[in-house]
Amino acid sequence: MKKDLGLYLHVPFCVKKCNYCDFLSKEATEEEKEAYVDALIKEIKSYKKFAGNYKVSTVFVGGGTPSCLRAEQTKRIFDALYEIFEFVKHPEITTEMNPGTVDREKLEVYKACGINRLSIGMQSVKDENLKVLGRIHNFEQLLEAYQLAREAGFTNINLDLMSSLPSQTKEEWEEELQKTVELNPEHISAYQLIIEEGTPFYEKYDAHPELLPNEEESRAIYQTTKRILEANGYMQYEISNYAKPQKECKHNLRYWERGEYLGIGLGSASLIQNMRMNNTREMSEYLEKSAVPKEMRKDVEFLENRQQIEEFMFLGLRKTYGVSKKEFHRAFGRELEDVYGQTLKKFIEEGMIKEKKDRIFLTEDGVLVSNQILSEFLF
Ligand code: SF4
Repeated sequence: MKKDLGLYLHVPFCVKKCNYCDFLSKEATEEEKEAYVDALIKEIKSYKKFAGNYKVSTVFVGGGTPSCLRAEQTKRIFDALYEIFEFVKHPEITTEMNPGTVDREKLEVYKACGINRLSIGMQSVKDENLKVLGRIHNFEQLLEAYQLAREAGFTNINLDLMSSLPSQTKEEWEEELQKTVELNPEHISAYQLIIEEGTPFYEKYDAHPELLPNEEESRAIYQTTKRILEANGYMQYEISNYAKPQKECKHNLRYWERGEYLGIGLGSASLIQNMRMNNTREMSEYLEKSAVPKEMRKDVEFLENRQQIEEFMFLGLRKTYGVSKKEFHRAFGRELEDVYGQTLKKFIEEGMIKEKKDRIFLTEDGVLVSNQILSEFLF
């Protein structure tokens, strides 16, 4: 029987770099984009033999800004995917898109390509925040893009929203959430801003932590997010992700459940048969060697049983429903308590982790210090 597979495709271009972003993306000319699309298609075609063992059930096109490619380029990429890979009957196919880079024609081509989920980089409903973040769009343009997407027939849309902006008050954050739920998307990703080294925000705010929320304020932001979104029918299923019933992102769940996925494109990561590997992050090397992935892959590592157990825990505990003890036993032939008895006991006593029937999951207090807790599941 063919195995289940997810595909991630990376588009490393943006119209303009945002002030907080350290993702692998850059501004590019039309020629650079065209050369990249050609290389991406070569990489896709190189998987012909590998693809024979799999059926694809999720695809995620991310970036960067995939919607800064021309409609015809997106179509060529999908033609190659359909030529090489076999798909299940109703796959989830997502593309990220940014307001200011879409029009009716592009959305129609997306539909024709089988894309059935959009993830829109909204980030804020306030123009002054969008300016501070260095986004290329304003709220009016977000509304237009959202409306166009609905008119084109997209019934599964995620909106990205960013909290903890410099000097943002609790009231302002509530307003952001209220206006977002009024748009009635199927999914909301609400991330807290992180100041990453090497970004303009780092230069500006690293020396001014007082402008960013402290631990207590972060807790209030988290609680407000959960309260408002849950009151409006969005269930939290991961630390930063909320969805209407049955609208969780299957592709992202695959990452947290350690399902197999193949990353295609510059810098993309794969997990195949417990092998973790990354494509090169050097554009020139990618353009030259994309047709022979084994020559441009980096950090190829076979995960030992011990590392698989660690990943099972620190990825699985990101989900609000946590991990299953039975699944742990099925995967590793050992009882979860035999491996993590002491750690679990400590966190359960401290009120950071809860156990309910077969499942172990983080409590609200646990989520607030999740990085600290998850790191204790590493051997
Ligand atoms: S659009 Fe997204 S990927 Fe591009 S610079 Fe902004 S945050 Fe980064």
